[in-house]
Amino acid sequence: MGRIIAIANQKGGVGKTTTAINLSACLAEAGQRVLTIDVDPQGNTTSGLGIDKNSVENTIYELILGEIEIQDAIIETEFERLSIIASNVNLAAAEIELIGINEKEYILKRAVEQVRDNYDFVIIDCPPSLNMLTINAMTTADTVLVPIQCEYYALEGLSQLLHTVNLVKQRLNPELEMEGVVFTMYDARTNLSLQVVENVKSNLHQTIYKTIIPRNIRLAEAPSHGLPINIYDSKSTGAESYRLLAEEVIHRGEEEWQ
Ligand code: ATP
Ligand code: MG
Repeated sequence: MGRIIAIANQKGGVGKTTTAINLSACLAEAGQRVLTIDVDPQGNTTSGLGIDKNSVENTIYELILGEIEIQDAIIETEFERLSIIASNVNLAAAEIELIGINEKEYILKRAVEQVRDNYDFVIIDCPPSLNMLTINAMTTADTVLVPIQCEYYALEGLSQLLHTVNLVKQRLNPELEMEGVVFTMYDARTNLSLQVVENVKSNLHQTIYKTIIPRNIRLAEAPSHGLPINIYDSKSTGAESYRLLAEEVIHRGEEEWQ
């Protein structure tokens, strides 16, 4: 049964999508069968994995509105073992359209349950807000992975996110756990990145991944080519770090966590 990981942080631009794309691709490269679900109307994970988001007919939007079955929403990417459920701007209307619908917190969960046995990992990219789409991702997920950008305001909003995870756990998904925190956009040339890592480590009592994702221009370039980093520039520091993160995610549970 596939492990379902939601990548969430209501803070914008912290590396959720970059992590969703490249963790998914590196898991697939390591032999895992992966389904990536784009739950953000920005659709950046969709285009970053080479899918033309505006020409897809069956997206997460139609799925959430109950117009299609999940099997019809799954698209095989051009990368081996990696499939995706696409998103585009239409999804922005879903929250309104779901008003008054019963059990709308569980729509995605019910759909994903039908296919999770076909995958080793299901990776869900969340939008930068704590809305109904993010709640759907968290009720579906086993764990929540939180990217934290190595910048001065890194911890801002984090307690709100942890509070939301706890609420979902108490009321909607008792199995939900924190997967852990991953630092992104680490800049070895500045003391600030180091200070942020040290500060978060001493203040946040969460599992923290040993792999730290460096700031790497190749990671920023890859999406415009519709390629994950392991294909776009296989030897870049960005590719190497996401491969290490994928290994850690695979072996999570076998290792000792602080
Ligand atoms: P949003 O909240 O809007 O969904 P996000 O949290 O998904 O944003 P990304 O889109 O992954 O964040 O990243 C924000 C920007 O930073 C993008 O332009 C991305 O290419 C760039 N970026 C992310 N990670 C790195 C990195 N490690 N090195 C260099 N650039 C990065
Ligand atoms: Mg994003």
